[in-house]
Amino acid sequence: SHVLHAYFLVPFIIHSLVFMTLVSSRPLSNTPNEITENNLCTDTICMKTASSDYGKLVQDLPFGVLRPSSVYDIVHLVRSSYNSSSPFTIAARGNGHSVRGQAMAKNGVVIEMSSLKDIGIRVSGNSSLGFYADVGGEQLWIDVLRATLLHGLAPVSWTDYLYLTVGGTLSNAGISGQSSFHGPQISNVLEMDVITGKGESITCSNNTNSDLFYAVLGGLGQFGIITRARIVLAEAPTRVKWFQIIYDDFAQFTKDQEYLVSIDYGFDYVEGSLIMENTPASNFFTPDDESMINSLVSKKGILYSLEAVKYYNDDIINTIDEEIQVIFKALHFKSGFIFNKDVTFFDFLNRVRAEELLLQSLALWDVPHPWLNLFIPRSRIADFNQGVFVNIIQKQSLSSGPFLVYPINRKRWDDRMSVVIPEDDDMFYTAAILNAAGPAVDPAVIEEQNKKILEYCNKSGIKIKQYFPHYTRKVGWMKHFGNKWSAFKERKEQFDPKMILSPGQRIFNSD
Ligand code: FAD
Repeated sequence: SHVLHAYFLVPFIIHSLVFMTLVSSRPLSNTPNEITENNLCTDTICMKTASSDYGKLVQDLPFGVLRPSSVYDIVHLVRSSYNSSSPFTIAARGNGHSVRGQAMAKNGVVIEMSSLKDIGIRVSGNSSLGFYADVGGEQLWIDVLRATLLHGLAPVSWTDYLYLTVGGTLSNAGISGQSSFHGPQISNVLEMDVITGKGESITCSNNTNSDLFYAVLGGLGQFGIITRARIVLAEAPTRVKWFQIIYDDFAQFTKDQEYLVSIDYGFDYVEGSLIMENTPASNFFTPDDESMINSLVSKKGILYSLEAVKYYNDDIINTIDEEIQVIFKALHFKSGFIFNKDVTFFDFLNRVRAEELLLQSLALWDVPHPWLNLFIPRSRIADFNQGVFVNIIQKQSLSSGPFLVYPINRKRWDDRMSVVIPEDDDMFYTAAILNAAGPAVDPAVIEEQNKKILEYCNKSGIKIKQYFPHYTRKVGWMKHFGNKWSAFKERKEQFDPKMILSPGQRIFNSD
């Protein structure tokens, strides 16, 4: 086995030596100009992709685009900038599903992470110590799901939509209806390989280089580029029982949501959303259900749908229906206003894809998205409902959303991570105000409404925190981070002292 070991090691050592020579023999005082000659793409397609994102609100043209074929290409690029007398900015671009140019680098270099394929997705572990997957930062969650399901396993924490990259969601938090039970995606990472703003490739975890580990989780791309993440896996169920329960009373709706996220043997996923007169028909409901819901909406103006899911295995004898009936006994919904579906685990997790394809076919997907995502202290959620959902969103009725609202337990959010959540209380709410502009609605009108919502919260003393935060002034960022600002700044000085990484977040380059 020693011989075998050496056999594998030799090419690796040669590769490393060649690489080290390459890095040290190339001129290090590069401007993007010098790098272009080697490997930057500046053709129309590269530039167009790198200067656009899902939001369609910002367009920052980079100097060029790097399509790395290995992690070493990224190391070389970052070192070139770091060692230069005039460093240039660099942004990793995952799948560009940010909405305000966060993955762009004006006059700098955008790294198209999707071209990186050297780590892929590798499943390891065993049932006594636990399973995990080592995945490249560029991997889409849909691919992580597909690959892990082949082993009967899956990550435990998700986003609603899976065509997002691991590096991109770990730079924010990665939340969905599973977050109350397992924490956000950033709480389910065991280890990462990160290329810092100094061009060092560092392995970090809870006990090795933990400062970098916690800085990067929710770190908005400010401290390093994630090239590998080790994601916690668990046995995957085969199917799910999926419910929508309609309420006309917000207090009852939130009471039931809070109950469901606070019990251990209840559902595996809990979310919620608004239904208003302009909410489009959902294929969750039959036409009969839909007309019943519509007649209640026209009486009440606004309804709240609690969405809950219970996982199960259909290949063993189970008591799933009895278990669900027990949970329902504690809830307070109107009789007849509960609707259900039974689908595969995969189809449930990939549910937004069907909506995407539908919207694409109607040319309604590639439109501007002035989204506003907020975390709200639990103690003020009723005020938020009245002041924002009822008095602003329902009244103005600009677009059909969707508008999501659900509580998240705080206990699985580690305060050492860079992400910011409301300070008080053991639970907070997330409100996703996901407006789309289009021929009928100008994005500027939606932006105006977003401003009104933020002003309302400010005036009423509702201490919200933005998720996917966006500020144009440093004072906004300082307020956002609150007592975490000085640590955030210190970590920046430590890991990216020349402020090279993710300039599109506009944190350290705003005034
Ligand atoms: P990008 O937009 O490409 O990048 C985001 C930021 O991360 C940038 O600053 C970029 O420089 C940085 N970055 C990218 N890759 C890396 C890396 N490897 N290392 C370090 N930094 C990196 N979010 C949720 O939490 N829950 C949801 O349910 C959810 N649903 C969504 C549904 C839709 C339809 C869309 C468009 C977005 C949704 N999001 C959701 C938001 C999503 O998590 C963010 O857009 C996130 O940025 C991931 O997108 P991305 O991989 O395309 O990253």
